[in-house]
Amino acid sequence: MFGGPRQSMGPRQMYKTTCSDCGKECEVPFQPTEGRPVYCDECFSKHRKPRPSHGGGRDRY
Ligand SMILES: [Zn+2]
Repeated sequence: MFGGPRQSMGPRQMYKTTCSDCGKECEVPFQPTEGRPVYCDECFSKHRKPRPSHGGGRDRY
């Protein structure tokens, strides 16, 4: 219960890696997994799929 490794607050561990898209060096807050693409901030938002319209069934314009 108590006395475990504390991992709240403090500086976040960042891992250096290379963006799979633009090839730029970047840092990610998680350990990059081999064989999986890692994107820098820019490319990440580029690759993130836009959310489907909120809630309802049909889109209105
Ligand atoms: Zn990138």
